[in-house]
Amino acid sequence: MPTNKDYYEILGVSKTASQDEIKKAYRTLAKKYHPDLNKEPGAEEKFKEINEAYETLSDEQKRAQYDQFGSAGPQGFGGAGGFSGFSSGGFGGFEDIFNSFFGGQRQRNTNQARQGEDIEKQMNISFEDAVYGATKKIRVSVDEICTACGGSGAYSKNDIHTCPDCHGTGYILRRQQTIFGMTQTQTVCPRCHGKGKEITRKCDVCGGTGHVRKTKDIDLKIPEGIQTGMSLRLEGYGGAGVNGGPNGDLYITFNVLPHKTFKRTNNDIYLEVPITFSQAALGDQIEVPTMWESEKIKIPAGTQSGQVFKIKGKGVKNPKGLGRGDQFVTVKVVTPTNLSKQEIELFKSLDQVEKQEKKSAWENFKEGFKNLFK
Ligand SMILES: [Zn+2]
Ligand SMILES: [Zn+2]
Repeated sequence: MPTNKDYYEILGVSKTASQDEIKKAYRTLAKKYHPDLNKEPGAEEKFKEINEAYETLSDEQKRAQYDQFGSAGPQGFGGAGGFSGFSSGGFGGFEDIFNSFFGGQRQRNTNQARQGEDIEKQMNISFEDAVYGATKKIRVSVDEICTACGGSGAYSKNDIHTCPDCHGTGYILRRQQTIFGMTQTQTVCPRCHGKGKEITRKCDVCGGTGHVRKTKDIDLKIPEGIQTGMSLRLEGYGGAGVNGGPNGDLYITFNVLPHKTFKRTNNDIYLEVPITFSQAALGDQIEVPTMWESEKIKIPAGTQSGQVFKIKGKGVKNPKGLGRGDQFVTVKVVTPTNLSKQEIELFKSLDQVEKQEKKSAWENFKEGFKNLFK
């Protein structure tokens, strides 16, 4: 049965109230009578009524109709349909109410011991150090507990007092009447900023921070085979712990610098070796460097430029496990320049022979080329 309700009265606003005033009034009342939280008899009815009123008054068109015809007509909108304003109102529904209550209000007890921040540092290392491993002396800064005050930050024990506002807890509980009933919210104690303590005289060594920054030289053991992007963790060399918590860790991330001659991909090493025409044609045994001792490799007769030879096990040790990479040698046949008289003569004779015998790569190509256009 449609009844003629006074929506303005329900929301406690005047007939000329602005949308902001209406919304504000609705929020206040919705929180107060939310049925999930207000178990008092009649609260649910009241909540429905508030929503009904808001649904109409928050919509300018409906509001105009309401002003003219009242809540019962002309279509009876918003009337006996009952509780419907929960998610359709301009308010944003339940979640909005919830968020406006708890958003950002639960705060961590800053009094607790916490580990300090982890810190990352980059370090360049030579190609050789990465391959062989190395021990490097590095200088690091670390926050140590102040020995003068034992980390308390106070000049003496008598200078530490429990915060009278929060009684040492670091936070203050506020009891509030909300749509969820009586709730408690925590806020950081403004007097001690969450420390729970007050220090009347600060330690003169650390200035009240409880730690002292020290520079240390440490031996950093770089394992054999390390690659760019890999890190070592130095426990306790990160940021200072808070409220007596442990320090964070320091991560040293390596950047391996390139080598003049060798290249590396993962655990394999690559080397390019120039050879002559004669070596390539006739074959030869050549000695090539590796990151370890030099190795002899056999260049068979008829080797082409770009051919790759593998020297097994002469790569880098796998830093994460067993095994070792290989070395790959790419031979590059180099065309001679600045020929001597004798060389010119020899090449000319070679050219003659090749043309007579018609079996050089060039002669073969020429033959094939002819056939192509016949
Ligand atoms: Zn306090
Ligand atoms: Zn101190």
